Amino acid sequence: MDPGSHGRESECKRIFALLSEYLDAELPADSCDEIEAHLKDCPPCLEFLESLRKTVELCRGFRPGELPGPLNEAVRRELWERYQRALRARSSAGGAGT
Ligand SMILES: [Zn+2]
Repeated sequence: MDPGSHGRESECKRIFALLSEYLDAELPADSCDEIEAHLKDCPPCLEFLESLRKTVELCRGFRPGELPGPLNEAVRRELWERYQRALRARSSAGGAGT
């Protein structure tokens, strides 16, 4: 089944914080390894990364000719909310009783 799923969510939150830097390629290789290892074992985070990546491409697409900058606050917030929903959907599907 899914041993050690307790504490997974806080791990996911940490990964989330790293992901936007990951997409900006500002992470040290250590952190990239950590994210990639987590993603292998965490489908919601992997799905989230895909949607984050698409969003980033979309945002950057709107500003051709400019250097890619950090995501703005509104975009980060929107992504975080989506992410929370994905995590909640996963934990209720898993039937852990909280
Ligand atoms: Zn995760």
